[in-house]
Amino acid sequence: MRPKRKSDNMGGKCDIQLIDDNGIRIDGRKIHELRPITIEAGVLNRADGSAYLEWGDNKVMAAVYGPREVHPRHRQKADRCIVQYYYSMAPFSVGDRKRPGPDRRSTEISKISAEALENVIFLDQFPRATIDVYVTVLQASAGTRCAALTAASVAVADAGIPMKDLVVSCASGKVEGKVVLDLVQAEDNFGESDVPIGYVPKTGEIVLMQMDGDMTYEEMEEAMELSINACKEIYEIQRDALIRRYADAEEVE
Ligand code: ADP
Repeated sequence: MRPKRKSDNMGGKCDIQLIDDNGIRIDGRKIHELRPITIEAGVLNRADGSAYLEWGDNKVMAAVYGPREVHPRHRQKADRCIVQYYYSMAPFSVGDRKRPGPDRRSTEISKISAEALENVIFLDQFPRATIDVYVTVLQASAGTRCAALTAASVAVADAGIPMKDLVVSCASGKVEGKVVLDLVQAEDNFGESDVPIGYVPKTGEIVLMQMDGDMTYEEMEEAMELSINACKEIYEIQRDALIRRYADAEEVE
């Protein structure tokens, strides 16, 4: 069975200590430390753009098609393109087999992630078209919506779709009364809150924000600062993936 959600767990107790007396977390990280992240752009030949990302134990593949014609046609917008985002978790991505197919959670994640990308893509350059973004979580360990959106935005750039900047996504939350960056599974399940954001480094815009659980105003400010600084770090990893991709492409030519 999937562990209880924070919202079911308010006031509940976890038997294990998630942060020790020296401020070290259950996976050995400090409070303000990200899990290791690697990104490869252009990994799939059949898609117009793609990216593979590992973020701690999360493994995510993103593929982009388009701009291309919208089907069914009634979904077309005369003055701009639409972004259709399909987030899915592979049945083998979690401890217990995940039932394949869409569910409420994947529908929600797909909606907010499409809206985040619509904020950075120059939509009016492709009237009546769609940009289709498929993200599959191959292995999940909390923070998959952030990992997915971070990979998806590299895949959109890899497809050559004009954007004002990449979207970077990261979460902070509250665990045992402390504001921490980038929660792992146990922290996500038993912590007090989790706040994923989507950030656009060039403009400073927040294009996605959700909150599960509770935080004070001051804690929220601290969490935002942590996440934004982490997003700036992740942005460099995204850019590096794209630079390597195009350096490799030049060598092949
Ligand atoms: P996120 O992955 O963005 O943090 P959630 O907070 O909803 O999203 O999920 C946290 C984690 O719980 C996921 O990363 C995954 O490891 C696990 N999880 C989510 N859905 C399921 C599911 N249907 N079955 C088993 N584990 C799940």
